[in-house]
Amino acid sequence: MESYFIGVDLGGTNIKTAVFDSTFEKLGENRAPTGAADGWQAVLERMNICAKELLEQCGLTMEQVAAAGMGIPGLMDRKAGISQFSPNFTGWKDVPVSPWFREKWGIPVFIDNDVRVNLYGEWKFGAGRGRENLVLLTLGTGLGSGIVMDGRVLYGTTGSAGEVGHMNMYREGRPCRCGSSGCLGRYVSALGMLRTFREKLDSGKESVVSQWVKKPEEITAKMISEAFDLGDETARETLTETGEMLGFGLVNLINLFNPERIIIGGGMAAAGERLLAPARKVVQKHALEISRNACDLVTAQLGNAAGMLGAAYYAFTQI
Ligand SMILES: [Zn+2]
Repeated sequence: MESYFIGVDLGGTNIKTAVFDSTFEKLGENRAPTGAADGWQAVLERMNICAKELLEQCGLTMEQVAAAGMGIPGLMDRKAGISQFSPNFTGWKDVPVSPWFREKWGIPVFIDNDVRVNLYGEWKFGAGRGRENLVLLTLGTGLGSGIVMDGRVLYGTTGSAGEVGHMNMYREGRPCRCGSSGCLGRYVSALGMLRTFREKLDSGKESVVSQWVKKPEEITAKMISEAFDLGDETARETLTETGEMLGFGLVNLINLFNPERIIIGGGMAAAGERLLAPARKVVQKHALEISRNACDLVTAQLGNAAGMLGAAYYAFTQI
């Protein structure tokens, strides 16, 4: 009986793998360090071992698995199953992920962008359940996004639709790795928010956070939330400005796509209303009235599990 699905979430730090039955109940989960600096063959081999250990723990064999789905950061040729480029991975160019695993495992293996597999997870099993028009923003180190429109995930001509992180907010702003400047993700992300905070410290503002670290590089997004809760003015300004910038990004998304729900995920979602309250205010003031009244803003429900579940579900949709 081929009725199980493997879902893999390949991150820069960890490989997370889970196996699900045909109703997407999770049977088990396993993880391993990515070791991204060791080259692609080593990373794929670790993914292989991670999945095989997991099946053994669950008393399953690869013959019982119908398909596997994998969420991978970066650019890819989904149809060929080739990961063309992935930031933060050493020597990672045109990696034949699907062909490599098909050969090893003898089952269909599908790849998609890491944020899109998160989107499949939240859409089908989490905060977006039962909805047809969604935007997911993942606020982690950077800003990732995925869009469901009229019940379909948007891909675009080259699979890069929905790069909300590169929405231009300033004609001349902070330089971005994409070659442009002033991109939303340079402000609304953990790195972006930390930069805003450090700019305030550099301009002479004070914060309790300075007493918690030896070097400014040690400051984390979580510390800024903690300082906010202690009434720290510089932390409050930073979260408010970041939330407002997020709000203007949401205004553009609401006006463009008319979603019924925007889901905020990723590590920074933990800031909750500290970040979302100023975003809501901006939306209320600037988005088209009919569109904004039809849209709510919520945090993601599945956390780290969304990627594995969404990857498995994506594989299911492909066979
Ligand atoms: Zn950019």
